[in-house]
Amino acid sequence: MYIVLLGAPGAGKGTQAAMLAEKTGLAQVASGDLFRKALKEETELGKIAKQYMEKGQLVPDEITIKMVLERLGKPDCTKGALLDGFPRNLEQAKALDNALAEQSKAIDKVINIKVSEAEVIKRLSRRWICGVCQAPYHETDAPPKVAGKCDRCGGELYQRADDKPETVQERLKVYEKETLPLIQYYKKSGKLVEVVSEGGPKAVHQKIMAALN
Ligand code: AMP
Repeated sequence: MYIVLLGAPGAGKGTQAAMLAEKTGLAQVASGDLFRKALKEETELGKIAKQYMEKGQLVPDEITIKMVLERLGKPDCTKGALLDGFPRNLEQAKALDNALAEQSKAIDKVINIKVSEAEVIKRLSRRWICGVCQAPYHETDAPPKVAGKCDRCGGELYQRADDKPETVQERLKVYEKETLPLIQYYKKSGKLVEVVSEGGPKAVHQKIMAALN
């Protein structure tokens, strides 16, 4: 089963993908996490990605598609995956469809998590991420049990450099221009379900489960 999570930055794709991963046993494949790992390890890929990430722009398709398809080829993805942050434009969506079709596979569902721009800015300005397992927290809405430490793995929490207001504005612009057209693309294929991101992560998770069932 292949499920794609769509939504603006801060919509809660990562949180929902992690909850779905726990429930379904499917691997969570988050392109942003893969880039952040490469950046931390200072690999060639990380060095290239950094230039785009710090401006809030998309890393070129050629690099991104190769990285994600390689990840989908790993043993933990044989039964499918939860795609979080990929595809982000039509080029990537078509590349994913083609790669899956070559293996007689296809995307089963696309979940569009809807959130207002004001809510995105509120969420991202107070978001903290675990440097080890990438679990997200929010200063007031979803704080960790111990300040600065991840509940799941005890890792140190940090604020993403691209969550600063100027970069968030750019990421939102990129989202509207590049990613929004994917909603029509998946609507046409009858795979799209839409869920409003409100009421907290658990409520959104229940709405997603209901939509998937
Ligand atoms: P995210 O964690 O999904 O918000 O991604 C953080 C940053 O990584 C984005 O702002 C982009 O610079 C880059 N990135 C993540 N996913 C993609 C993608 N599918 N295509 C291009 N760039 C991406």
